[in-house]
Amino acid sequence: MVEWSQVDHEMARQSEQVLRTLNEKGYEAYWVGGCVRDELLERSVDDMDITTSASPEQVMALFADCIPTGLQHGTVTVRSGGFYFEVTTFRTETEYKDNRRPAAVHFVQDVKEDLQRRDFTMNALAMDREGNIVDPFGGQSDIQDGRVRCVGSAAERFGEDALRMLRCVRFASVFDFKIAYNTWKGLVQQKDLLQHIAMERVRTEMVKMMAGPHPLRGLELLLRSQALEHVKAPIRMERFNKDLTCTIEQLIGKDILLRWSMLLIAGHYTWDESDVLLRKWTFSNDDRSRINGVLQVEQLIQAVVQEQKGEETLRSEWIITVLSCGRQATEDWLTIQPLLPTGWRDQELMHEQQIGEIQSRGAGWSQSMKVHELKDLHITGEDILQLLGRKGGPWLGQLMKYLLKETAIGNIANQHDMLTNEVKRVAADDKA
Ligand code: ATP
Ligand code: MG
Repeated sequence: MVEWSQVDHEMARQSEQVLRTLNEKGYEAYWVGGCVRDELLERSVDDMDITTSASPEQVMALFADCIPTGLQHGTVTVRSGGFYFEVTTFRTETEYKDNRRPAAVHFVQDVKEDLQRRDFTMNALAMDREGNIVDPFGGQSDIQDGRVRCVGSAAERFGEDALRMLRCVRFASVFDFKIAYNTWKGLVQQKDLLQHIAMERVRTEMVKMMAGPHPLRGLELLLRSQALEHVKAPIRMERFNKDLTCTIEQLIGKDILLRWSMLLIAGHYTWDESDVLLRKWTFSNDDRSRINGVLQVEQLIQAVVQEQKGEETLRSEWIITVLSCGRQATEDWLTIQPLLPTGWRDQELMHEQQIGEIQSRGAGWSQSMKVHELKDLHITGEDILQLLGRKGGPWLGQLMKYLLKETAIGNIANQHDMLTNEVKRVAADDKA
């Protein structure tokens, strides 16, 4: 039995069981692709794919608990002991359409033919139950030398499926690998085909790259190849300030999304521009608002420090920023501040000093806030309507926001009678 060092013991056992069942019926079966590669790289393995000579129908007949995930591509998901394994029939792919998907797949009998359709030599590895590795393209030596290399002609393989170019950059970045000369040449030559790839797939690769241990390696490759200038929602890599970009890797143990915030700041994106870009890049609403929150705070703070302000005013402005951007965004902004190189904002010393003050005191100011949202106020809209005997309207929202701000800053205590007095005072002022 194979000793997997990077795989959950039970997952390894269950997948072995699947292979054994197939073997006992006379079919060939192997672990294939990422799991074999990651085991050799001593990187933890999260899922195990299986490839077999059995047809999808034969696989379905053998396993009671299975889902026909992609029958036309030969894939059946087999469930064993709570683990899911994708079992795919040996196949080749032909006649790629639109530089992104095969028009037809053909089932074949030789595992080597299956390995030939795979993107890189390190991903074209299959291992049987005895631990014998089928490696027709030198994947093991490429792993040892730290090299990403296409199976066959790079220009052709990137032409079949343009996404492979971004997978190439992602693997080189995450593993800190070099890219074989011909593979790099093929990438540079075929990069304009990236325009055919859905942004969702582009994003998935870039998110994996940015989450890895060496995102700067990937960004450098993207700069050199100019690949991202050819995707549907293009980015020009020259716009990124190098010194700022370098700080991304120092964000250790923090949410990975903050790396994106850093990157966009380094690219001089305004809040609006980055919102548009992240939408085009199909980031989820949650991720987009987390990434963008930092840019929003940055923009507000830059406006605040345009003029010399005293400490009390800076504190009030900070609290107003917390109310409009949210606690998370201001905390994130504070997290990245110490990592940014001094003077990056290209502003006068006075501004830098004020930013420094906000940076060192912001967390404390936030903590001093007694209220964050309208519902924290000890007065309701209903109370105010009754008190003033007026009909609701936009004025009510404005008044409540004003009360929230004044209470958050601490100018009014969050007590019903204090707030009532303030409402009366404002109403009397309005009449006067
Ligand atoms: P990871 O799961 O870490 O992202 P992976 O290599 O396992 O990396 P998957 O997308 O899970 O990537 O694909 C599994 C296998 O399928 C790969 O190892 C490779 O052999 C093959 N493969 C995936 N995408 C492509 C592609 N675009 N072209 C050719 N082969 C591919
Ligand atoms: Mg995988």
